[in-house]
Amino acid sequence: SFKKSLGQNFLIDQNILQKIVSAAGLDETKGALEIGPGIGALTERLARTAKCVTAVEIDQRLLPILGEVLAPYERVRVRHGDVLKLDLKEVFAEDFADVEKVSVVANLPYYVTTPILMKLLEDKLPLENIVVMIQKEVAERMAASPGSKDYGSLSIAVQYYSEPELVCIVPHTVFIPQPNVASAVIRLRVRTEPPVHVPDEKHFFEVVQASFAQRRKTIANNLKSRFFTKENKDALEPLLQSAGIEPSRRGETLSIEEFARLSTLLLEAGYI
Ligand code: SAM
Repeated sequence: SFKKSLGQNFLIDQNILQKIVSAAGLDETKGALEIGPGIGALTERLARTAKCVTAVEIDQRLLPILGEVLAPYERVRVRHGDVLKLDLKEVFAEDFADVEKVSVVANLPYYVTTPILMKLLEDKLPLENIVVMIQKEVAERMAASPGSKDYGSLSIAVQYYSEPELVCIVPHTVFIPQPNVASAVIRLRVRTEPPVHVPDEKHFFEVVQASFAQRRKTIANNLKSRFFTKENKDALEPLLQSAGIEPSRRGETLSIEEFARLSTLLLEAGYI
């Protein structure tokens, strides 16, 4: 029986499985980390393509099946546990010591998509690609460009660490049981260097968050209510102007470079 609470929607379509594996660019010199192997359909294909595979599964009931399905493959390790509680640096040191490049490949449990992806990106692991099946709407937000309705703090967080690219939209019929939401495969090419320089990442993301706090408000109003007081609020508009940003613009029109400039100026002027 399937556990809905664990996001168990298993893939049954061989073409989609192959598309996901191909998008990761694996070969016999590389490693693969899978999150949520389920009953091992994707894991088997990864095992045939990569040098070694580690798969992290939370549901203990699946371990015997996984053991059976994966028995023919030598360098596959199933780890039982919650990926969000796992020390991934340790996993990398233990399981991927002899491979140069590792990609994450997974049909993710949708209820924890964002925490899992942000953990993978923020931990700054030596990852090449992250190829994941996720909710279509979330994939669109991750890949969105400035000015589009899907663009927001998630787009900027993901694009700061990676270059996202939609691989394909996936019909409900490739899963058992079928999920209630539309799905898509997305590839995140993990950056080795951030696309912009920011003096402090924590502050940068705070400014981004604040700028989208109320989407209908201008950038000036959102920043005022977060970082300024009645007494010093008049200092903001000249500051925005000096960053080349019209105070009447909304957060959703600002590029990652503009957010970087803005957070640097706010930090240097002592407002954050
Ligand atoms: N890979 C399989 C497939 O494609 O058919 C199963 C994918 S299913 C969408 C998600 C899997 O993630 C389930 O097997 C579920 O038990 C597992 N899972 C859910 N939450 C997890 C967590 N926090 N850590 C590790 N695995 C998790």
